[in-house]
Amino acid sequence: MNKTALIYHDDYLKHSTGAYHPESSERLVSIMKLLQQTGIIEELTRLTPEKCSREDLLRAHTKQHVEYLKELSSKGGGPIDADTYCNGDTYDIARLAVGGEILAGKHVIEKKTDNAFVLVRPPGHHATKNTAMGFCYLNNVAVMVKYLQENHGVKKVCIFDWDVHAANGTEEIFYNDSTVLVISIHQDPKTIFPGTGFIDEAGEGCGEGYTINIPVPPHTGDADYMYLMNNFILERIEAYNPDFMVISAGYDSHMLDPIGSLQLTEKAYCNMTSSLRNLAEKVCNGRLVVELEGGYNLNAIATSTHVTLKTMLGLEPEIQVNGETNKTITELTQKLTKKFNDLW
Ligand SMILES: [Zn+2]
Repeated sequence: MNKTALIYHDDYLKHSTGAYHPESSERLVSIMKLLQQTGIIEELTRLTPEKCSREDLLRAHTKQHVEYLKELSSKGGGPIDADTYCNGDTYDIARLAVGGEILAGKHVIEKKTDNAFVLVRPPGHHATKNTAMGFCYLNNVAVMVKYLQENHGVKKVCIFDWDVHAANGTEEIFYNDSTVLVISIHQDPKTIFPGTGFIDEAGEGCGEGYTINIPVPPHTGDADYMYLMNNFILERIEAYNPDFMVISAGYDSHMLDPIGSLQLTEKAYCNMTSSLRNLAEKVCNGRLVVELEGGYNLNAIATSTHVTLKTMLGLEPEIQVNGETNKTITELTQKLTKKFNDLW
């Protein structure tokens, strides 16, 4: 059995997005309840994070953005956009979320744990260098990656994002950077927020080819995801040969999610985690951090997090995924393979 750390803080419940907002504290309450009921919490190493420093944030965000959030929070908050609301606690809790991510990265790199799951809110993958959007304020994953590169000699990182929405913030931060491979598989952005994340958005300058967007049509399911994993994604990550791997785990790609229109089940999360954990063992001594992004069905987010953790511990065998692969997906795989084989 692996040693898996769980990073969580009760203060993550304090960030309020307003009544009836899908990104509510109930999400974490529901997950923690299931982890306790199933007893899996006893198998995990619990870690309590602290807020990250301003210096940590400035590696991934502009000074202007950090000051803006700090000031808005100190005034008691206010709306940032139609979906993204800041309250008096938001700046501090967002820094505590980033702090959780950094703590996970440090523990994994220092071999205090085999891998780690960061159970946080607010999520981070839509936050760009200079903008809070899509329920995200600070880019948790990006700040951790920059921290590890600066302080722990980590050179190449792969971030794999399976949230239903494209990881536009994470992509923007590393768009000109070949030291971080960002792969985002998501629902076709013509049909969902944030409206970016097409195949041709593939990085710029020395980062060209190191942003990989995989947009899939609504109703894509487990068999299609596993086909893409086994015929494109895993071999691409192995060829990149990262020394650290991160999963941005958004469970709004689950079939029950009220926002997304994909058809994934717990089987896909189990198999993707298992494949990526095995690959991490092969290429980077198992170094793997998984972080919660979206996911808005309170039951699905709990059962999906549970299966991910069980797989990280090595307690869940891969589950057979049945079903035909859609022709759109086989064609998409061919297109992606050709494009990225030509680039690197
Ligand atoms: Zn999402």
